[in-house]
Amino acid sequence: MKNIEDEKKVAIERFNLFIKQKKMRQTSERVFILDKIYTISSFFDAQTLYEQINQEMHISLATIYSTLNLLQECNLIIRHNFNTNNIKYEKLPIGKATNYYYRVCVKCNTVKAFADSKLSRSISLRKSNAFSTFNHTLYLYGICKKCKENNQ
Ligand SMILES: [Zn+2]
Repeated sequence: MKNIEDEKKVAIERFNLFIKQKKMRQTSERVFILDKIYTISSFFDAQTLYEQINQEMHISLATIYSTLNLLQECNLIIRHNFNTNNIKYEKLPIGKATNYYYRVCVKCNTVKAFADSKLSRSISLRKSNAFSTFNHTLYLYGICKKCKENNQ
């Protein structure tokens, strides 16, 4: 994708098609939420998104959560659970098959993404009749180099 605007256009098209296929109503709220997500360059949580959106348009937190679930199902965003009370979302790159994995430092909460195509392939090849996978991720919890050095 050339730039974020192009990427957003494709994302909105994909999302509208997904909503149509699910025989759900197309609402301006849902598109507004997706549009807002494209202005955020990193991780975000539902509450912050809710506060940002409500400066411009009244959308309930319940609608935000249900839209985030739909966007996740549509492979446009991913839900991160870095630790039990820290749920973050992140938009997924359009047109790239790469899965990102994350190293989470339990001391300073720094999160660093990395790719491992061999691992991605091996997970994608696992098929199950009992479960349909939209996407996957992996977290490695530990201590970053900086925290390790500061402690010694
Ligand atoms: Zn650290």
